[in-house]
Amino acid sequence: CGIVGYIGNQDSKEILLKGLEKLEYRGYDSAGIAVRGNEQIRVFKEKGRIADLRAIVDESVSANTGIGHTRWATHGVPSQTNAHPHQSASGRFTLVHNGVIENYSILKREYLQGTEFISETDTEVIVQMIEKFANEGMETEEAFRQTLTLLKGSYALALLDEQAADMIFVAKNKSPLLVGVGADFNVVASDAMAMLQVTNQYVELMDKEMVFVTKEQVTIKTLEGTVVERKPYTAELDA
Ligand code: GLU
Repeated sequence: CGIVGYIGNQDSKEILLKGLEKLEYRGYDSAGIAVRGNEQIRVFKEKGRIADLRAIVDESVSANTGIGHTRWATHGVPSQTNAHPHQSASGRFTLVHNGVIENYSILKREYLQGTEFISETDTEVIVQMIEKFANEGMETEEAFRQTLTLLKGSYALALLDEQAADMIFVAKNKSPLLVGVGADFNVVASDAMAMLQVTNQYVELMDKEMVFVTKEQVTIKTLEGTVVERKPYTAELDA
């Protein structure tokens, strides 16, 4: 299982699909990507191989931002519906997640009575909570932070907000995730190998940090809101 993300000026579809192919060795049962062009976020996901996903991606969608996922099912059978990305009820938020949310049924009961769930995954609770907090008036950063403080378990996350076109929201806890740095783009990857195709400069992330990735900038903050400065390292791997 693995995660990739890209924000920049190039066509993100091909970069994401190539990245997912590089992560195939980790094992998976389904895969998906979400890309955004000018306005809309489009989700493509499929059970089976990356080749099966590639076959359903609409070539005509031009998108410079996107996130991708290979799933190793823990909650909910391997299926197209349970494949990531998952979206919030209104479609505003789109999320990919690796790991296990141990308290997802408690969170569902406590915060999401009345929310209609589409999948059987623990993951969907995260994206529905972010939307719930946003609907209550929180800025996305605060809704993201608030949700992270309530999660128990392991996660690597990448989130798109339809209303924040220029950003990927990222966080990790006990699951691997890196941010890769480019000249006029930035990327997200579970393993540097996935994105060596575009950069060999990576920033390590610590558990329970929030990361705000734009095409020009990578901003890392603790859950308390303190900005953390961290230099990239050079990944010494063969692409
Ligand atoms: N727990 C999530 C699910 O079952 C994520 C699994 C993964 O790490 O791929 O969908």
